[in-house]
Amino acid sequence: MNRISWDQYFMAQSHLLALRSTCTRLTVGATIVRDNRIIAGGYNGSIAGGTHCIDDGCYVIDNHCIRTIHAEMNALLQCAKFGVPTAEAEIYVTHFPCLQCCKSLIQAGIKAVYYAEDYKNHPYAIELFEQAGVKTEKVEARGAIDVYGKEKQDFVRSLLGQLEQSGLEKEAVLELEKEAKLLFNK
Ligand SMILES: [Zn+2]
Ligand SMILES: [Zn+2]
Repeated sequence: MNRISWDQYFMAQSHLLALRSTCTRLTVGATIVRDNRIIAGGYNGSIAGGTHCIDDGCYVIDNHCIRTIHAEMNALLQCAKFGVPTAEAEIYVTHFPCLQCCKSLIQAGIKAVYYAEDYKNHPYAIELFEQAGVKTEKVEARGAIDVYGKEKQDFVRSLLGQLEQSGLEKEAVLELEKEAKLLFNK
């Protein structure tokens, strides 16, 4: 039996949250943890009850979607809304936080930022984290959940398409398609 680590578990949770994102520019998930307990979570999206980017397209100004509240901010605001202290807590984010989120995380007393993927890591954000004594570490959920499930599915679909185009009998392609569907549970 392979027991997953806390890092894998919390990062997997952030990847799951990212799947709830409503802004199509980047799907991000964030999980705030204290003493190995999840105290809040967030994803990239509009205000509650607001228009979703997935429905109406992004509202882009200066190359930023101004409709979106970032996952980290949503997680922090959930704590604010329900009165949960964030001092000394840690956050697991699917992507390295932007400068705005970086400042908010520091100010909220977050002590460690674990991220799965580098994302335009702003030098000033790195500097501020260092200055504030906030630990940053790249960790992966790999092995806990299949975060690349969609990519694999797309890849297999494209392979099947190419097989068909290269002259493989329709029946054989359909058979492979059936197997792929079972594999991806769809
Ligand atoms: Zn958007
Ligand atoms: Zn941000």
